[in-house]
Amino acid sequence: IRRSAEELLDGLNPQQSEAVQYSGPALLIGAGAGSGKTRVLTRRIAWALSQWNAWPSQILAITFTNKAAREMKDRLETLIGPAAQRMWVSTFHSACVRMLRRDGEAVGLNRSFTIYDQADSIRLMRTIEQEHGLDPKRVKPRDVLSAISDCKNELKGWRMQLKEYAPDYKPGQPSNLGHLEPGDMLNACLYAEYQRRLEAANSVDFDDLIMRTVQMLQVDPQAAAYYRHKFRYIFVDEYQDTNHAQYVLVRELSGVDTTSGASGVAGAAGAAGAAHAAGTQYMQLSPQPQQAQPNWVTVVGDSDQSIYAFRGADIHNILDFEKDFPNAKTVMLEQNYRSTQTILDAANAVISKNAGRTPKKLWTQEGAGSPIVGYAADDDLQEAQWVAGEIARLVAEDGFTYGDIAIMYRANAQSRRFEEAFINAGIPYQLIGGTRFYERKEVKDSIAYLQCITNPSDDVSMRRILNVPKRGLGERAEALVADYAQTQGITFWQALGNTEQIPGMTTRMANPLHAFRSMMEDLIAYAAEHDANPSDIVAHVLQTSGIIDELRKAKDEQEQGRVENLSQLQSVAAEYEQNTPDSSLAGFLESVALVADSDQLPDEGEQRGSVTLMTLHTSKGLEYPVVFLVGMEEGTFPHSRAMDNVTEMAEERRLAYVGITRARKRLYVTRAGERTQWGKAETMLPSEFLDDIPDKLIDWKRKETSVESGESEFGEFGGFQGFGGFGGSRSFDGFDGSSSRGASRGGSHGRWGARSGGASTGSGGSSRNWRDGARG
Ligand code: ATP
Ligand code: MG
Repeated sequence: IRRSAEELLDGLNPQQSEAVQYSGPALLIGAGAGSGKTRVLTRRIAWALSQWNAWPSQILAITFTNKAAREMKDRLETLIGPAAQRMWVSTFHSACVRMLRRDGEAVGLNRSFTIYDQADSIRLMRTIEQEHGLDPKRVKPRDVLSAISDCKNELKGWRMQLKEYAPDYKPGQPSNLGHLEPGDMLNACLYAEYQRRLEAANSVDFDDLIMRTVQMLQVDPQAAAYYRHKFRYIFVDEYQDTNHAQYVLVRELSGVDTTSGASGVAGAAGAAGAAHAAGTQYMQLSPQPQQAQPNWVTVVGDSDQSIYAFRGADIHNILDFEKDFPNAKTVMLEQNYRSTQTILDAANAVISKNAGRTPKKLWTQEGAGSPIVGYAADDDLQEAQWVAGEIARLVAEDGFTYGDIAIMYRANAQSRRFEEAFINAGIPYQLIGGTRFYERKEVKDSIAYLQCITNPSDDVSMRRILNVPKRGLGERAEALVADYAQTQGITFWQALGNTEQIPGMTTRMANPLHAFRSMMEDLIAYAAEHDANPSDIVAHVLQTSGIIDELRKAKDEQEQGRVENLSQLQSVAAEYEQNTPDSSLAGFLESVALVADSDQLPDEGEQRGSVTLMTLHTSKGLEYPVVFLVGMEEGTFPHSRAMDNVTEMAEERRLAYVGITRARKRLYVTRAGERTQWGKAETMLPSEFLDDIPDKLIDWKRKETSVESGESEFGEFGGFQGFGGFGGSRSFDGFDGSSSRGASRGGSHGRWGARSGGASTGSGGSSRNWRDGARG
């Protein structure tokens, strides 16, 4: 479908319209939340096709989640028709998988490489530690992996790290690292070992996907030329959350560093400018960038919504865009189309406390709308109950559906109270990001089988399924094979084919190993024949391996649930097959490996029926008519870990801004005066983000907890300082009767110190406990 310019600009405001049409090498759409960034990006892609005669295959559009990619593809399909299918609209990770599958040989990756998830990586790291005399309890695999991840996000390879921190270390040789303390030196050694093992197993982890693609573009001039020639138009949504590796990737693909495009570019921009000046309403040029020019890059983002620093996101990427890309133009959008003015005023008030930001103010034509509703509960149980009651009321009286409503919290663990309250109240809900389907054991086992079939060199998966279901293969047999593979420098799978050569191997151990190897060979043969039908392969694997039989034999209910999960897995494969023209087992595994948290969100139609529970991080880019921001307390949100750190506090504040701006019509803020943590009730103070929202915007249904207002059961004794010893924390805190947080915050420490015990709420006797509790 070829859309006219009028159609593509229909309903856009002047800034949006300018951003859609601007023709030049680099464009930053810097815009506040809900101002139509994603909408403009989508229209601009359609504009490139219809007005600049771009081909769909020249488009690379990057989004943050697979769900966002799907939504963008759908919107594009409505705009331009089936041609949308030929564009690359995906996450960074998916795009990199595609490039590496095609051209990864240059960096030593065979086409059929496996993608490790966090659990696979932890398993591998634990094995490596054990082989090098380290105790995984002392040196936590998770911590080491997080240090490695940081390196990869900054494109620091293991050789670089070794050279800097452990120049004498010789990777790949038996050695004992048991004497090393956790730290840079040890991390560097383990990074080297980990990476060597991944490479030997023809595998990559998530961070590798980006780093190895960048390497590929840097070492393989042919591949680099191919992609630079191909992707003439590059679009990146949520640019504020790119990390250094992703930033370099965009630069590599854009070719800004390899072309002397400045003059040609100025020409194109100049021509466009002239068209403007001449009063041309639309730019009808066909400015196909020429080979010698960099590709055109459009990035979209909001520095106020940068919330992934913990994954290496670098806010400077967006702040420095104009410096990094020559002749860059910036368009700011400020009109918000999502929320009411009241909600925007609250968001503006919270975010304006952050230092060093470009001031921008969101506004809307929507009018003030309803006030924000606040509620201070006595504890987390009451908070959840009140929210449940309010949801029932919204649905019964105000005409909202359950699907219009979302609960957002800082930490996953906060969901439990709400789940319980919703179950009791009969409110349907869906939880985003709990134990994910793909993390369940039986699902992972089955997927490990499939991974071994496509890539038998994948040692971690091979060892995972060796004795699943149980086939009498003990740790001793596994260790013998593993040692042999290690000393011979071959894969576990290859060692399995050579059991006669393995020292110490008995016939009793060798027989089940042979049986396992020949079963796997049969599965591999079967898969080769049925490659286009992953669902057949899944069914065959589940039967032949004995996984299903083992679960069926166990009669208890939980095991039955596991069987259902496996039938789900088969449905997922069937669905993949239906939606993918050139389906293959490897393709299916890829689609599975790349599912992110937010992908569990069902498509709009299905979700109408239930309230959504999710973390603030997951809520990025989404919108709901009604949003409850719960747990608005110091230590909960802002998170205790962030409270003593200016940089992290700024990030918490951006997270609050993201949360507030998800709401379209109604916003709720709730808090609890006491929260049970690690089995103990801790006194909680209101979040400073609540203070930042002007009082006139909030309609407090209950402003103070009964402790704070002195209404508790002991409230009448509130004036007696000495009563604290009997009454416990509730009456005690109520003593000064002050509603001002400043006073209660400043004073409470001392009062706790003077306290002699008798904590009826179990909140701990000493000031120290209290502080530690509140702060983490
Ligand atoms: P976020 O920062 O949260 O990612 P965003 O800037 O990407 O937000 P969009 O999601 O594109 O914003 O748009 C927010 C809402 O406003 C959507 O419901 C969108 O359809 C609507 N919208 C955007 N522009 C317009 C417009 N010109 N007219 C009417 N509605 C609009
Ligand atoms: Mg968006």
